Amino acid sequence: MSSAGTLHVVGAGLAGLAAAVAAAKAGQRVVVHEAAGHAGGRCRSFMDERLGRVIDNGSHLVLGANRTALAYARATGGIEAMEAAQPAFPFIDLASAKSWTVTPSRPPAGIGEILRALGLPWTGKSETVGSRLGHTASFTRFWLPMCEAIMNTAPHEASARMFTWTMRKALLGGAPALTPWIFPGGLSAALVAPALATLSLFGAEIHFRRRLKAVNSQALSFDDTEVALGAADRVILALPPWVLAPLLPGTIPDMPTRPIVNAHFRCAQPIDLPHGSHFLGLVNASGHWLFTRGDVLSVTVSAAGSLVDLDNDSIAERLWEEIRRALNLPPIPPPPYRIMKEKRATLAHDNQTTASRPGPVTGIEGIFLAGDWIASPWPCTIEAAISSGLSAARLALSRPGLTF
Ligand SMILES: Cc1cc2nc3c(=O)[nH]c(=O)nc-3n(C[C@H](O)[C@H](O)[C@H](O)COP(=O)(O)OP(=O)(O)OC[C@H]3O[C@@H](n4cnc5c(N)ncnc54)[C@H](O)[C@@H]3O)c2cc1C
Repeated sequence: MSSAGTLHVVGAGLAGLAAAVAAAKAGQRVVVHEAAGHAGGRCRSFMDERLGRVIDNGSHLVLGANRTALAYARATGGIEAMEAAQPAFPFIDLASAKSWTVTPSRPPAGIGEILRALGLPWTGKSETVGSRLGHTASFTRFWLPMCEAIMNTAPHEASARMFTWTMRKALLGGAPALTPWIFPGGLSAALVAPALATLSLFGAEIHFRRRLKAVNSQALSFDDTEVALGAADRVILALPPWVLAPLLPGTIPDMPTRPIVNAHFRCAQPIDLPHGSHFLGLVNASGHWLFTRGDVLSVTVSAAGSLVDLDNDSIAERLWEEIRRALNLPPIPPPPYRIMKEKRATLAHDNQTTASRPGPVTGIEGIFLAGDWIASPWPCTIEAAISSGLSAARLALSRPGLTF
């Protein structure tokens, strides 16, 4: 790409921000166009007036194995707002009240099961996590919660190939790969605000409330603005598939999604989780992972199809009751809460949808795609989004060695 041209990035989720940061730091003129009044997309924080606290749309966790995400956070300085926790994953089983912790030296299962989870012997294209690991002794206490957390898809439909790939990245990398990186000041403080500051430092323009309505090789049409494209300009559409499908008719496959529900409770005082951990896995419960940040307790329900249509009061009551039992709290009603329903949190990671994820190249010259749903061995995660943004910037700028 000629340095005289402009790189237009549409969508300021993590994929778009990653593409823009990499290109702007390399000296490219960059313009970002975002429909919302804020950046971050599905990974963002906001001030919740009812709770009087900054909360995230949903609790997120990054592992040390997510190297591209960490490289992005280091390049923008956002890593300063992240914390590397101990590589220890505590669980409690609400049915038996037993608790245990998985660490690199205390593996979750016997060697036979671990080899199966790592993809050995060979994993078939049509295998699911359920068919591969559903009959193992540690299924309910480890593989099931891991599948729901990583794949946001129930084990009976989740792709075993994708799951075993992520397990290889996490379990074979030792303690550094298993180190959970958390966000004590919220997602935006680490992954969004520092990227916007970096873009501004490197002279990139960012326009909020600019919704893309149409695209072709000559122009980008927004609600009330048209941006003409010159021969040297390039475009990265960092948009979800359900937004792109009508903009690029006939090119985006139908891609089913799965919801995530988060409940945030503002407690009367800060509540510690067992062993000073920042999170706790819940087994035999509707809630899956409990996170603590000061006086806010948050619980995540992945693959939340059975919960998402319930009313907020019922969801809060059910999840609070589980929290109370897990933490041995007195029988008090739910404190003030906020329920966040992300109906299209990620793709469904079944084998068919996974195989249909398209690459970053479109049929229109100079226009590329980015987003967590673009073909990748990773499920739809921060790592997938940021890696896809970097890959799209490499293609758009014809610079295969581009880094953050
Ligand atoms: C509740 C929840 C919990 C999660 N937990 C984790 C976790 O623990 N770990 C992990 O790694 N990942 C997690 N994820 C996944 C992660 O958040 C996503 O993979 C990632 O944020 C996707 O980024 P993206 O840039 O691909 O897409 P998006 O964030 O969807 O970004 C797309 C952007 O495009 C904008 N846009 C849409 N339409 C238009 C238009 N027409 N014109 C201009 N702009 C437009 C949107 O406003 C948005 O800003 C979670 C997701 C959710 C929802």
